[in-house]
Amino acid sequence: MSFYKVVEQYRDFDVSNFFDQVSDEDIVRSLAKEKPGPMDFLTLLSPRAAGHLEAMARKAHQLTVQYFGRTIQMFIPLYISNHCTNGCAYCGFNHKNPILRRKLSLEEIEIEARAIAKTGMQHVLFLTGEAPHITPMTYLLDAAQLLKKYFASVAIEIYPLEVDAYRQLYEVGVDSMTMFQETYDEGVYKRVHLAGKKMDYHWRLNGPDRAARGGMRVVNLGALLGLSEPRREMFFTGLHACYLENKYIDTEIAISLPRFNAAEGDFHPDYLVNDKTFVQFMTALRIFLPRAGLTVSTRENAKFRDRILPLGVTRYSAGSSTGVGGYTEVPDGQTPQFEITDARSVAQVANAILVQGYQPIYKDWDCI
Ligand code: SF4
Repeated sequence: MSFYKVVEQYRDFDVSNFFDQVSDEDIVRSLAKEKPGPMDFLTLLSPRAAGHLEAMARKAHQLTVQYFGRTIQMFIPLYISNHCTNGCAYCGFNHKNPILRRKLSLEEIEIEARAIAKTGMQHVLFLTGEAPHITPMTYLLDAAQLLKKYFASVAIEIYPLEVDAYRQLYEVGVDSMTMFQETYDEGVYKRVHLAGKKMDYHWRLNGPDRAARGGMRVVNLGALLGLSEPRREMFFTGLHACYLENKYIDTEIAISLPRFNAAEGDFHPDYLVNDKTFVQFMTALRIFLPRAGLTVSTRENAKFRDRILPLGVTRYSAGSSTGVGGYTEVPDGQTPQFEITDARSVAQVANAILVQGYQPIYKDWDCI
């Protein structure tokens, strides 16, 4: 069964009406459950549950310490190409943007890898746009093999692949993949994906399944919060993660919470998620899915990331650059994929984690 069956099951569910009916007693009951179900999760996502944020935060903290200890795993993104044939209205790499396009050679990737490795970082996530004629499988396999020389864990955030291709990447050392559905709302999906292979909602929706079947140890998903009604998006994101957890019991399922910042780029999202709602989403996810990794990137500013550290998050990106060749080269007017607001170095992020009594984890995996 594809996750699309679940999307169909809830697609016409009247979430607003459900939220109107949620009472404080419902929220207390859902919070007290040992195994909250989808409707408990939706209850905790309701506007009324914002009034129970302290209790939700306490439970999220307790579950996170129970399942992950006081640790935050760190990783760093490495953009190796910004060529893209897709037309995602919200992205700086959109094929229509007249930006400087660049693909790193293997030599250039190695220079970047050496610079990153000097920071002590052992988990790298490499990214491309979607342009298989420019970044074909041979290039991805070479890049992965090369990065494996420098890092314990190599992850990908690239265009969706067939199962066999994921398996080939797994066999040269890639252990994790990230793929955001961006939005689960098919109408909005169609409106913001205007060209290229990414227009195919189903091909993308089934990407995490194919990656798990291809052997990936960690599959990380998410919705870009702001494209469609955020509480619904969060609900479908949680359902998607739950579906994958139940189906691929050997795969760790993780969730990212990317959201638009008010000041970001030229695209104006229909919704903005404020800090309080963001925390509500994160804690509701933790309570619904206690084993899921939760990733918060440097889209979020340093102060906010420090504040939310004990409330459910398990992974932080650190020292990030979202430009191609961004770790060793002087900025050359490139357009980043999105704006970074936590510009601290790897060491500074690690120190901020330590200060709160948590352990920054540079390496929690090796397959050698
Ligand atoms: S979000 Fe990804 S696929 Fe879409 S334009 Fe940007 S790089 Fe390309």
